[in-house]
Amino acid sequence: MNTIPALFGPYGSAAVEFIDQFERYGANALWFHGFDPTAFEACQKHQLSACVELKTFRADFASHPELIPIGADGHPIRYGELVQGVCLSQTAFLEEIEADLIDALRQYAPAGIWLDYLTYAGWFEVPEPDLQESCFCPACIADFCESTGLDATSPDEILGTAAAQWEQHKCQRIAGFARRYADLIHAHLPECIVGAYMCPWQPHEFDRASTRIFAQDYTLLAPAIDVFTPLIYCAKSGRGPAWGREFLEASPAFIPHDRPVQLILDALDFPASLHETAASTHPSWGLQIFSGAQVFRDPQPALEFAAAVEQIREAQTGSSRPS
Ligand SMILES: [Zn+2]
Repeated sequence: MNTIPALFGPYGSAAVEFIDQFERYGANALWFHGFDPTAFEACQKHQLSACVELKTFRADFASHPELIPIGADGHPIRYGELVQGVCLSQTAFLEEIEADLIDALRQYAPAGIWLDYLTYAGWFEVPEPDLQESCFCPACIADFCESTGLDATSPDEILGTAAAQWEQHKCQRIAGFARRYADLIHAHLPECIVGAYMCPWQPHEFDRASTRIFAQDYTLLAPAIDVFTPLIYCAKSGRGPAWGREFLEASPAFIPHDRPVQLILDALDFPASLHETAASTHPSWGLQIFSGAQVFRDPQPALEFAAAVEQIREAQTGSSRPS
């Protein structure tokens, strides 16, 4: 039985300025980057669910080149201004993530923590993504061989003879980190919701890149993740406003039925994407609006948001899922 509350609200601490308007327009939560003391305080004052976006596998490659994953050509991957994912054999970096998380969990009690960038390397918020296989550093190859019992040594050999095992191994590795972080969170805060921001592509798109490249497998992640949040940024990704609705309606085919799907929409796509999402026959379980401060700045967009919340809540009441 799904006991996750349906949370609605903006993403971004800039929305704190308008937090006294949230309740009037149906928002009951605020998502913000990191463990932001000002945002926590504002949420507490207004009795809103405080939800943290937790950066996992994203780093400044210019100052930490050792974290750049190795591509199939044996060289560091190509990347532009925006990139996520790191070489997952870099233990000092991984230890730092955990130490920071534990430190924060001792000080704060968020209603939810959404794991962000919990993927292999690349960037998917674009129309034509540059998709590269990674990481083929000696340590990551050794980890693959040890985990699978295979004896493949080069990227060519791995992709030529064991591509399915390589994909599965990467997905298991990501799911293992999800479990690790969820366990740490629940050790301190048993009731805390654990969400994950997801590559918004359906499994068949870009030759199965959501698993093949980014290594996000819904079924493997489900034991650790309470709520899946695909990033439905239509304009940035070159998609139409119906993208979120289409994702929701297709999701029962590839997302475990007991796991709610809560979209994050982009304020850039407002309000067409919001209208489409609210009309979905498979309701979003709550809703986040990226850069959502602007929605609450003026009454007109805020009323549009409120109407969408009401429509989604009605659809939830009439829907048997998630169950
Ligand atoms: Zn590596």
